[in-house]
Amino acid sequence: MPAEPRIIPLCEPYLGGNEGRYLQDCIESGWVSSVGAFVDRFESMMAEAVGTAHAVATVNGTASLHIALLVAGVKPGDAVLVSNLTFVASANAIRHAGAFPIFIDADERTWQMDPGLVGDFLDTRIDSTSGNPVDRETGRRVGAILPVHILGYPCEMARLRSLAEPHEIPVIEDATESLGSSIDGSPCGSLGEFGCFSFNGNKLLTTGGGGMIVTKDPENARLAKHLTTQAKLPGVEFIHDQVGYNYRLTNLQAAVGCAQLENLPHHLERKQQIFKTYRQAFDGLGESIEVGPEVGPTSAPCHWLSALRLPETRDDSESPRSRALLQHLEAHGIQSRPLWQPMHLSPAYRETNSSAYPVSETLYREVLCLPSSVGLTKADQETVIERCLEFLDTRP
Ligand SMILES: *Cc1c(COP(=O)(O)O)cnc(C)c1O
Repeated sequence: MPAEPRIIPLCEPYLGGNEGRYLQDCIESGWVSSVGAFVDRFESMMAEAVGTAHAVATVNGTASLHIALLVAGVKPGDAVLVSNLTFVASANAIRHAGAFPIFIDADERTWQMDPGLVGDFLDTRIDSTSGNPVDRETGRRVGAILPVHILGYPCEMARLRSLAEPHEIPVIEDATESLGSSIDGSPCGSLGEFGCFSFNGNKLLTTGGGGMIVTKDPENARLAKHLTTQAKLPGVEFIHDQVGYNYRLTNLQAAVGCAQLENLPHHLERKQQIFKTYRQAFDGLGESIEVGPEVGPTSAPCHWLSALRLPETRDDSESPRSRALLQHLEAHGIQSRPLWQPMHLSPAYRETNSSAYPVSETLYREVLCLPSSVGLTKADQETVIERCLEFLDTRP
C-alpha cells in the first residue's frame, strides 16, 4: 500500500505526558464514568491555573457557556452582547439559554469585541427606568456581555467591565481559546463573573472533548455543578429541584485533562515559539502583512493559533489572497484555515441583526490561521514558511 501523503495539520493534540498512565488508573480502579478522583483533581488544578477559587467540569465548552449564562441569570427573551467574529458555539449557547445575541463588531487592531461599540450600544439603547438594563429597540433585558478572546488574544477586559458595571450586567468570558493568556498577570477566565473553557481536540489542551466553568463565587460554582448534574439533590433518593442537564465530564476525560494540565507550561512555550518564528519570517515583508492581532503592552496571549493577515487592495475582489494562499498550502499538504464566517452572515443568525460589521467582514476575508500544533517540528514550520513566501513572491 502506498504511504499516506503526510500533511501538516492546523492544530493537532499533543499527548506527551501522563495521559496513558492516568487512563490506566481509571481502568484498573473501575472509575471511568462521571464521578471520580480525576474529575475533582482536574477541577482543582484548573481553579489553581486560572486563579479562581472554583471550577466545574463539563462535557464541552458549549455546555460551559450555556450553564454560565443560566447561572448568571440570563432568562429566555433576554439579549446578550457577544463578539460577532467568533466560533458559532458562543452564539448557540445564548440561544440554548433562550436569549438572543446582539453581535458586536471586532476592533481593527485587536480583532476582538470592540469596547467602543459596546459603550455606544449601552449609551444609546439602554433604558434603565424599570431598574433593568432594557434595550429600547427590542424591549429585551440585556442579561450578560460575552466577550470571546479569539485565537488566544485577550479582549480589553478592563474597559468592558467598567462599561458593564454601572448597569450591573455580568460579564462571562468565552475563554475557550485563551487558556494560559493573561492581562496584567491576571489569567483570562478570571476577569469576569465566569470564565468558560473547552478541551476539544484542537484546543490548547484537550480531553478529547470537555469543558470547564471557572468562577470566584462559591454559590455560583455550587449552582453550576447542580445544573450540570441533573439538578439532583444530595442523598440516595432521586429528587431534582429543577430541570437540569447531563453536562458532566467523565473521569476518563478528566484523567487526560490532569495529564495535559501538568504540561501547560510546555504547551504555552511551544505556542509562543511558533508565533515568534512566524513573526520573524513575515515581519518586514511589507507593512501590509502582519502576524496575529496587535497585542497590548500588558497582555500575554497564549498564541493558540498563529494567524497571517493579508490585506486586500480592493475589498470587492472575488477571491481574497488569504483563500488563494489556503489553496496553495493545501496543494502542498499544509492545512490552514480562515476565521469563522462572521455571525451576522451566518445562515443560522443573519436574521438577528441589522447593524453593519465592516471590521469582521474584512478580517474574515484577510486572515488565515497557520499550522500551530504544539508538536509542530522546526522543519515542518520552515516548510510552511517557505510555501507561504513562495506564494507571496508570486502574488505580492
Ligand atoms: C471551541 C470553542 C467553543 C466550544 O467548545 P466545544 O468544547 O467545542 O463545545 C466555544 N467558543 C469558541 C470561541 C470556541 O473556539
